[in-house]
Amino acid sequence: MILFKKAADINNWLLKSKAAGKKTGFIPTMGALHQGHTSLIHASKQAGSISVCSIFVNPAQFNDANDFDNYPSTIEKDIDALEKAGCDVLFLPSVSEMYPAGMENAKNYDLGYLETVLEGKYRPGHFQGVCLVVHRLLNIIPANDLYLGQKDYQQCMVIKKLVELEKINTTIYICPTLRETSGLAMSSRNMRLTAEARKHALTIFETLSYLKNNIKPGDLTALKQTAIDSLTNAGFKVDYVEIADAGNLDIINHWNGNKKLVAVAAAFLGDVRLIDNMLL
Ligand code: AMP
Repeated sequence: MILFKKAADINNWLLKSKAAGKKTGFIPTMGALHQGHTSLIHASKQAGSISVCSIFVNPAQFNDANDFDNYPSTIEKDIDALEKAGCDVLFLPSVSEMYPAGMENAKNYDLGYLETVLEGKYRPGHFQGVCLVVHRLLNIIPANDLYLGQKDYQQCMVIKKLVELEKINTTIYICPTLRETSGLAMSSRNMRLTAEARKHALTIFETLSYLKNNIKPGDLTALKQTAIDSLTNAGFKVDYVEIADAGNLDIINHWNGNKKLVAVAAAFLGDVRLIDNMLL
């Protein structure tokens, strides 16, 4: 695996590889890698692409300084995991390399409704930071294909919107959420959970499964409330549990039985914020 730290260097290298007719598959991450991340590398390798992974804990997307300060970093292990997964290129930039002009006068992306609900509502500014970093990364890494995880359902929609807005020539592939055998969605933030908290964390998956198994056409208010209560009783501080239109994230309170839905949840266990989702 080739490691680049400078934007100009990786850009030159990839432009040459593109000129030689090779396809680039890009997997942006914030490190503390797990099998969810490496599944994205495998997907890009299966497509026959040069797989490029970036590791950058993006300060612009953290609306909570505590979350940023405590975000796990396991760079040596990450490099090892990427080598094993057959990743071809790692981009490991510094903040000044990513944002040479600083982050203050960053562009504002018109994300419309997506920025007002769920993660957008509970993490103000978060999706602007996501767009800023992904836009910059896609300028540096001219990727044919971009691999994202369904684990971050709303983020996938935001990045699709970014690619449309900025007319970026890349195809987005959304890969399934990898889970522990218990059902807990793999997440870098799980590293911050104690063994005891991990058992409670599983309630998010159980709650989403409950929604999936019990949804019926009609009013959904009571079902959602049961889901919120089960998380609260397991010791979570709930930001939201919602059922939304899978296509545009409109919140659905009354289901006609036809529309495709997604259940989404975000909740804190102690100071660790976990998110998950499930297509219903
Ligand atoms: P992150 O490092 O959390 O920014 O995630 C980098 C990429 O990995 C994003 O596209 C995530 O959606 C994806 N990802 C994170 N967790 C999982 C998972 N459990 N399964 C599949 N993809 C994931």
